[in-house]
Amino acid sequence: MSRLQVSVDYGAIARNVERLCAFAPTAQVLAVVKADAYGHGLVPAAAAARAGGATWLGVAQPDEALALRAAGDTGRILTWLYGPDVPAARLIEAGVDVSASSLPVLERIVDAAREVGTVARVHVCVDTGLAREGVRPAELPGLLEAAIAADDAVVVVGMWSHLAWADQPGHPTIDAQAAVFREALAVAEARGARLEVRHLANSAATLTRPDLHFDLVRPGIAIYGLPPVEDPAGRRFGLEPAMRVTASLALVKDVPAGQGVSYGHDYTTPAPTRLGLVSAGYADGIFRSAGNRAEVSIGGRRHRIAGRVCMDQVVLDLGADAPERAGDTVVLIGPDGPTARDWADAVGTIDYEIVCRFGGYKEKAPV
Ligand SMILES: *Cc1c(COP(=O)(O)O)cnc(C)c1O
Repeated sequence: MSRLQVSVDYGAIARNVERLCAFAPTAQVLAVVKADAYGHGLVPAAAAARAGGATWLGVAQPDEALALRAAGDTGRILTWLYGPDVPAARLIEAGVDVSASSLPVLERIVDAAREVGTVARVHVCVDTGLAREGVRPAELPGLLEAAIAADDAVVVVGMWSHLAWADQPGHPTIDAQAAVFREALAVAEARGARLEVRHLANSAATLTRPDLHFDLVRPGIAIYGLPPVEDPAGRRFGLEPAMRVTASLALVKDVPAGQGVSYGHDYTTPAPTRLGLVSAGYADGIFRSAGNRAEVSIGGRRHRIAGRVCMDQVVLDLGADAPERAGDTVVLIGPDGPTARDWADAVGTIDYEIVCRFGGYKEKAPV
């Protein structure tokens, strides 16, 4: 049981997906719910995304695709990250679309489809320059020929790639990758592939590059209300953060000026003051590097973490005669406290890692 409480506004996720559908009116929306929906809870976040208009769901790991089916989702689902140990037969039986990033993986899918007696729906992944998943363009014709030769077992319904620098609008790699992607589409179409969905855009490209929406966009972080690019209108593209993270104040006590606080005394009280002890630490997901950097909020008052983050606790300098009391709610992230971006800036990471870490392995309650 973690000492951090994570509550999620699933209505906000549904509304964010609606907004993203409006940003991509000519494409379908695949809501990326990998990694337990970026810490927001796989099954309820997926249901919210469906309610908001996502006709597709996407997960990296096959077990999450199977978990969505087990939870009763009957729509289109794509999974993309595995080697030849992919549980292909189970995915095909469950009606999950699979990605092929290499010939060995395609061969596994073909074998499994023949075993199961169902034609597998395959999305060919092309590495257009991220150098992560996908076949290099030079190997694409070979992969396509292998799929065509096995047309009793697989049908290529999609082709996709992923951008390296979409969160830097105007970066030259975006157009360069798009050009390689278009060539790859032409290679497939020249071989008679009838692609149902061509897809390239993550959240950043969904918000900033309508010319790259193709048939399907794959936003992740934006559906949780955390746009990865600045809105020129300063309105966060109308997206609402969905996660709230709270802890509780265990102890409040007065100390004199000059008191060193927490391990190593990295913080010293400048004046007589009141300290507050929060009963959550790095074992609960609070970055250790947040000591003396990140802020929390109690009853609308902001306090920076005083000194080092410990395994189960952190200390706050509340100020002399502070109104806080033991038992008060401490907001780490929420509309009434810091944002995930504030934490990311404080500890030198991105808000993606903040929500994955705070949300990871914890029970989520709807607000
Ligand atoms: C994670 C991921 C996305 C979503 O990226 P965001 O930046 O969160 O929008 C889309 N496509 C693939 C292949 C991914 O791995």
